[in-house]
Amino acid sequence: MPNREIIQIHIGQAGVQIANACWELYCLEHGIRTDGTIHEYNNSEDDSYSPFFSISSTGQAVPRVVMIDLEPTVIDEIRTGYYRRLFHPDQLLTGKEDAANNYARGMYGIGTEMIDLALDRTRLVAEGCNSLQGFILFRAFGGGTGSGFTTLFLERLGMDYRKTSVLEFAVYPSPRVSPIIVEPYNAVLTTNGCIEHEDVCFVMDNEAVYDILLRNLDTPRPTYTNLNRLLGQVVSAVTASLRFEGAVNVDLAEFQTNLVPYPRIHFPLITYAPFMPAHKTIHEQLTVAQLTNSCFEPAQQMVKCDPRNGKYMSCCLLYRGDVTPTDVNNAIMNIKSKRSIAFVDWCPTGFKVGINYQPPTTVPGGDLAAVRRAVTMLSNSTAIREAWQRLLRKFNLMYSKRSFVHHYVGEGMEEVEFQDARENLDALVLDYKEVDAD
Ligand code: GDP
Repeated sequence: MPNREIIQIHIGQAGVQIANACWELYCLEHGIRTDGTIHEYNNSEDDSYSPFFSISSTGQAVPRVVMIDLEPTVIDEIRTGYYRRLFHPDQLLTGKEDAANNYARGMYGIGTEMIDLALDRTRLVAEGCNSLQGFILFRAFGGGTGSGFTTLFLERLGMDYRKTSVLEFAVYPSPRVSPIIVEPYNAVLTTNGCIEHEDVCFVMDNEAVYDILLRNLDTPRPTYTNLNRLLGQVVSAVTASLRFEGAVNVDLAEFQTNLVPYPRIHFPLITYAPFMPAHKTIHEQLTVAQLTNSCFEPAQQMVKCDPRNGKYMSCCLLYRGDVTPTDVNNAIMNIKSKRSIAFVDWCPTGFKVGINYQPPTTVPGGDLAAVRRAVTMLSNSTAIREAWQRLLRKFNLMYSKRSFVHHYVGEGMEEVEFQDARENLDALVLDYKEVDAD
């Protein structure tokens, strides 16, 4: 497998805290210690880490990463924490003041002071790659840095790396997890600003993840650490085929080709199975057929919506661990015969499949049980429009009274951007409805 490199960019509090979970897991998966040294048990011919880590002149693994926050506290925790020797200090960028939960501050205000440095550092990491495959971004839609600065960053990144894939994992706001009132504004504004500058956006709804922890994993009061570890496991599953050997591998470009029928409709739904609590280890192992069936249960989804209210445009099933192509074929035949899963007419009910032999790695003290096999389904379903409709309803409630708008205008944003953003998201919902009606 050619190991083409990927650079991960973590922006704002959520983006950086998710980085903690992701890089902890990647290190465990690749046998890398907290200071970047590589465990002796690693086979010297195994360079599965190379898409995500470079090797320094002293032989240490260094994450291909840039972390950016407009204020210092969250990244300072990394600078002083357990993994402080893993990351290159030049790749951790902080400003002095936060974006005050305001998209306009991240996009037009203090964000502009950080943008050149952020792009320079990204360029430096890119120069250390032989054949850069793409960028993966992590951020929250609802925060000021995550929404505003990310929009500015993607706009500028696109000028330098026109042909390089850009994927992102974006946290969708949940009032149950965070009480920031203006999150619908930030989320709608940033979706409008980024839709042209990214190829695929995996939305991860904090509410859905919270419920999975509460109901499926018996975590009584889920914290951000619990949420992020679960998200880390899902991100690892989505990216496993970019790193590990397998019977069928799917690379970044293939995600795009298979999942995105039209450039704007690039928000696949992630479904993962099994969510088995840590105390059930060993007792239960689901079969490939059971795992595949679970992917069609709304309770396993990373976004709250009901696929039975929509149609699938594409489906990609990524298996990990003890799975054979025959098991997968049988499971898919079973799905097709038993279930009424509606596909659009113009797309065959084909499933793109990836199989990686590496089973999921569990984090000690985490919520998930060790399992021999798991599956992640990436599907482009028109049902995800429900998430946009929910956001738009909240946006319209506030915007009808023009409440909080002055904070945005005060940072140099034109009010017309609110209307443009709303129209653009209305159009996106219509795009999905048209696909449904076809
Ligand atoms: P920013 O630094 O200005 O971008 O602000 P945040 O990243 O804190 O964005 C606020 C949104 O992110 C809210 O919806 C929070 O619930 C969510 N959030 C903040 N921290 C985390 C985290 O560590 N994990 C997850 N999953 N969500 C977070």
